[in-house]
Amino acid sequence: MRPRALLACLLGLVVLLVTGCGGSGSPPEASTPSSPPPSAALPPEATPSPTRTAPPKPALRPLPAKLPAGLVRTTGTERVALTFDDGPDPAWTPQLLDRLKAAKVTATFCVVGTQVRKYPGLLRRIVREGHQLCNHSWHHDLDLARRPVAEIRADLVRTDKEIRRAVPDAEVPFYRQPGGRWTAEVVKVAKQLGMRSLHWTVDPKDWAKPTAATIQKRVKRAARPGAVVLLHDGGGNRAATLAACPKLIAALKRDHGITRLT
Ligand SMILES: [Zn+2]
Repeated sequence: MRPRALLACLLGLVVLLVTGCGGSGSPPEASTPSSPPPSAALPPEATPSPTRTAPPKPALRPLPAKLPAGLVRTTGTERVALTFDDGPDPAWTPQLLDRLKAAKVTATFCVVGTQVRKYPGLLRRIVREGHQLCNHSWHHDLDLARRPVAEIRADLVRTDKEIRRAVPDAEVPFYRQPGGRWTAEVVKVAKQLGMRSLHWTVDPKDWAKPTAATIQKRVKRAARPGAVVLLHDGGGNRAATLAACPKLIAALKRDHGITRLT
């Protein structure tokens, strides 16, 4: 009896091992058709079960080696433009609006759909105070431009709708791809939806949290006539950007003049 019981136990264990290890296949994007079958170098009990794999997601389109054609990168005048991305944000946007008002300048706000949904009142204030709007995608998907065209269009339309829910007659003449990771496809979709694709020429990298003095210095050094300056009023602690603004704006006004993008 005892040897038989032991044998039964062992058999049970083997069955558990075989059936228990099969389910956890690798995520769909990790497997490519050209890779060798996973069972080739592995013991048979580690073979992923084919019944548990999810349908593969469409592959992301590769990013082009250089920026696609059709991007707005200058103001078209001698004067420079300020752009603020990733808001509206209740901690930073109101303070920034106060500073812009004090300096008597207007800017372009590249807003994220989910933030607009949460803070429609802030969007209304941005528009009321004469600033320009730019669609910055629904939830700041860095890979959006690499997705299927239908997904890109749905994202941009959803963001535009949210903006117009807050401000029904809002004009949204620009789109800016998160991370500046443009493709020709996203530029085309934005154009079909009536938006020009807005890039930049000056990036002081305020998102990496340099000091206010560094932000100021970088903008001053890189600004040329017609420059489009990229700054952030959302997506993290923007105390340094805010602190940089009064001097930065004064210097740009003095050296070039500041204009609103149209
Ligand atoms: Zn952004």
